[in-house]
Amino acid sequence: MTPDEFRRHGADVVEWIAHYLETVEEHPVASPLAPGDVRALLPAHPPQHPEPFEDVLADVDRIILPGVTHWQSPNWFAYFPANSSGPSILGELLSAGLGVQGMLWATSPACTELETHVLDWMVELLGPPDRFGSTGAGGGVIEDSASSATLVALLAGRQRAVDAGAELGALVAYASAHTHSSLEKAARIAGLGPDQVRTVAVDGEFALRPDALAAAVEEDRSAGRVPFFCCATVGTTSSLAVDPVAELAPVCAGAGVWLHVDGAMAGSAAVCPELRWVNDGLDRADSYAFNPHKWLFTNFDCTCFWVADRSALLAALSILPEYLRNEASESGAVIDYRDWQLPLGRRFRALKLWFVIRHYGAEGLAHHVRRHVALAEELVGWVRADERFVLAAPPRLGLVCLRHVDGDDATRALLDAVNASGEQYLTHTRLDGRLVIRVSIGQAHTEERHVRALWDHLTSLADGLP
Ligand code: PLP
Repeated sequence: MTPDEFRRHGADVVEWIAHYLETVEEHPVASPLAPGDVRALLPAHPPQHPEPFEDVLADVDRIILPGVTHWQSPNWFAYFPANSSGPSILGELLSAGLGVQGMLWATSPACTELETHVLDWMVELLGPPDRFGSTGAGGGVIEDSASSATLVALLAGRQRAVDAGAELGALVAYASAHTHSSLEKAARIAGLGPDQVRTVAVDGEFALRPDALAAAVEEDRSAGRVPFFCCATVGTTSSLAVDPVAELAPVCAGAGVWLHVDGAMAGSAAVCPELRWVNDGLDRADSYAFNPHKWLFTNFDCTCFWVADRSALLAALSILPEYLRNEASESGAVIDYRDWQLPLGRRFRALKLWFVIRHYGAEGLAHHVRRHVALAEELVGWVRADERFVLAAPPRLGLVCLRHVDGDDATRALLDAVNASGEQYLTHTRLDGRLVIRVSIGQAHTEERHVRALWDHLTSLADGLP
């Protein structure tokens, strides 16, 4: 593709995206296709000869778009959001355009230094403790996902414990049943058996109980096992429950347990000063992660991950083969982010986050997050006023968990009918054994009229229940 062809097709693609985002609301939110429908439209064999770019783009409309579930629709209330935004998409494009692979500082200094700087900006913007900043013993990095952040934190904790003399087989990690499943996956990858991950009891609001953690840690220590890692969650996936980090921290510190805090969804709320309670206790955590790729208008993948002391992380993940040796690394004056993550190679992800922060500013970001929280509060008022529905968990930030009072069959019927309509998209969880509809409000373009339409839809369906 010549530069001129690139210019022309690039303009077509940007126009395509702009039109898509303008009209995304018109599509059924969840793709209605059946398994195999997309592949059935694709040629069985790759082309032998070049094809015009116009044909490729036409096939995006014909084959791809019907098989897309529209995460950028304002009628998106499923899972958690995975927002993009204009500045973020353009930052991503620029990252691809530069085609930089930033494994070492030396392989593109701007890739590393912008990342360090933006992560320090995030500390200032969101208010986690200064010790996560790059000027002390800690520092931040952009991981591809909160799952990777949990794994990397667990590996750092494992390293710290092993360096202190623990046997791998004696290590024990702690989490609640509401902790994201990525913790279990991380433990498997790290070579821990199922009996090395302890499920700690939760309270009535689904938050991990500090007394139960203390008891489990004590029991393990008395039995000669080595407690080494605890994953606390600020904003669980099912119900946005908040584990009491400030109370868990002393238990962990007293037993030499690495405390990782997973704020994947809720962490973005800290951009609003009045919601900074989500940071409570972080001053005593060993590591913290949250996802701008959920609620901070930065398209997937972008997880901000900080450690208070990077030495265990580097000890766990640094390996220096001859072919990567270079003067800058050896000087000790630079960060090589390959040592902070699983793969060697890495994309220039900081660009999109930088673009987003500069486009919206702290006030713009806070404005949108605040708007979503206010919309959720409005929905909570409507749910409370309708005796056919109950809140299934304390509503928090942008998440409202509700169910029909008649039980699971009625709740399931409402959920299925909404999703089959394509007008909105909702997902479910189970709390205290009961089926629950999660209404997650946080898509960048969701307005009051969309939430109102969802509620009207649910209540009119409830009118028709037997
Ligand atoms: N942690 C929590 C609390 C989550 O809600 C999620 C996803 O929803 C994750 C981790 C995993 O996020 P990621 O897709 O970035 O790995």
